[in-house]
Amino acid sequence: MSLRRWGINTIEFIDQPGSQTADSAFSQKVRELSRSDLDRCYQCLTCSLGCPVAFAMDYRPNQVMRMVQLGQKQKLLESSTIWICAGCETCVTRCPNEVNILGVMDTLREMALREKVEGKEKVIPTFHQTFLYPVEKLGKQYELGMLLLLKLRTKDFFSDLGLGMKMFARRKLKLFPSKIKASKEMKTIFEKTRGV
Ligand code: SF4
Ligand code: SF4
Repeated sequence: MSLRRWGINTIEFIDQPGSQTADSAFSQKVRELSRSDLDRCYQCLTCSLGCPVAFAMDYRPNQVMRMVQLGQKQKLLESSTIWICAGCETCVTRCPNEVNILGVMDTLREMALREKVEGKEKVIPTFHQTFLYPVEKLGKQYELGMLLLLKLRTKDFFSDLGLGMKMFARRKLKLFPSKIKASKEMKTIFEKTRGV
């Protein structure tokens, strides 16, 4: 079976000498934070063949595992892949070596946000941060407020406007926010887990 038929490239370009300076401290940190034993990955490609969004990624999940092993920090933190990953866990379920691929993706996303890396994806990281803002403040989602905040942050005021109006007309978007009873406890959870 040709792997190219499935849109899977070889990893040779990543291994090219001089393609990027290896950052071994980064490699070690990702292993620790993701609690993933990346040395178990033997590049069988099972994760990439099962990933439902691999076609849209600039590096496939198996390539990401190799790039972390090789300490290719900059390429990874700037990649689209870490934001396109939908967190569905198909790769983790299918991996014969129990590599925590999703844990690695989560760790890379958090690193990119903390280090304020300007990557290829602009809107998804902003959405990632904006989505949780009402949950932290109210204990639940406030879709209209979240969407307005996203529009302000991305300065993209008109895309999806028609869809938003339709949702509003069908009362899918509430005009005013409401809080859950335990909103203070929710804030505490956010404070305690921030930076973990
Ligand atoms: S499925 Fe597991 S072992 Fe195979 S390439 Fe992906 S991470 Fe590596
Ligand atoms: S968790 Fe991410 S990388 Fe893994 S299969 Fe789902 S979308 Fe692909």
